[in-house]
Amino acid sequence: MKEKSMHPLIDREKQKRAKKYHKDNLKTSVATYVISGIFIAALLWFDISKNFVVFINTVTNARFLIILTYFAVLYVIYTLITMPLAYLDGYVIEHKYGFSTQNFKGWLKDWVKSFFVSFILGAIVFEIIYLVTNISPTLWWLWLSVIMIIFSVILANLFPVLILPLFYKTSPIENEDLRNKIEDICEQTKISVQGIFSINLSSKSTKANAAVVGLGNTKRILIGDTLIADYTEGEILSVLAHEITHYREHHVWWLILWQSCTTIVMFYVFYLIYPYIYGLVGFGKVSDIAAFPLFGAIFATLAFVLKPFGSAIFRYYERRADKGALNLTKDPESFIALMAKFCNKQLSIAYPNPFIEWYKYSHPSPGNRIKSAETWEAKQ
Ligand SMILES: [Zn+2]
Repeated sequence: MKEKSMHPLIDREKQKRAKKYHKDNLKTSVATYVISGIFIAALLWFDISKNFVVFINTVTNARFLIILTYFAVLYVIYTLITMPLAYLDGYVIEHKYGFSTQNFKGWLKDWVKSFFVSFILGAIVFEIIYLVTNISPTLWWLWLSVIMIIFSVILANLFPVLILPLFYKTSPIENEDLRNKIEDICEQTKISVQGIFSINLSSKSTKANAAVVGLGNTKRILIGDTLIADYTEGEILSVLAHEITHYREHHVWWLILWQSCTTIVMFYVFYLIYPYIYGLVGFGKVSDIAAFPLFGAIFATLAFVLKPFGSAIFRYYERRADKGALNLTKDPESFIALMAKFCNKQLSIAYPNPFIEWYKYSHPSPGNRIKSAETWEAKQ
């Protein structure tokens, strides 16, 4: 990005720091990928996976228990191996750049909680995969897709009431003045203020955020207390109008629909290609539990290839929400100030490499969002 074309509200020095921050994050992700790759290769190369399943078979014949034991042991080893990187990423780097408000004990507590949540969800998914592939050798890819879609809908519904409260507290918005302003926006739409909650992000981080979570009876808008504390009223209302647009246009449902299509495509492609890849390593049936490291590697590769499609879908709904926000607030100035603040305070990269933005950005870059707001303003 040429210095000249950078928006005047964006701090150039902070952008240099932002690049360093993202480089640090990238290093830990690459290290995690490399370690995962070595872990998978070791399990297959030295027949550890095969021998381990043979060993479990000597203890129990119940398939359900074999699946659970295999998953539990692998999960614990993998999570412990990657723990230093999780610590680097979630604690050291976040402190280095002044974002984390947690002490080590608080971080560790969260790490343990996510360990158990991921363990339970992972075990359910793992059981489903290896029970279904065993029952239906030809149509398993379709059954698995359908079950995974239902599972993700249930999880999206339960997330705000079951998982979120383990990490954060939500409460009604107390600021009377802000409430009135929110009510004004809500009157223009059909959203009730009861569906909008404040969430105590400040207990862990200085970063501000907001989101629509839940489905059906649990659907709600969450707005970070960090946002309410550190941002101007105009900026907060811009965020809220953005989230309200997500809410009223049912973007969560649309994203689930697209995710479901992706799931079916991934399972079907897997179904078509796996016999060749399994054959290379001496595996046959997809229901072979010992082949799981390969199963995971193929899936990760498919996800890697399909990533830009998912990102593009996300960005489409984010652009819609930005446009909806501007139509509601008619305040492009606050919207642009908000984007600049994301860059200056949270070290978002304003003008990322277009390829990286295309590949992985779930939101358009702040630079592009500013440009869209200026275009919107010019049309008025
Ligand atoms: Zn959004």
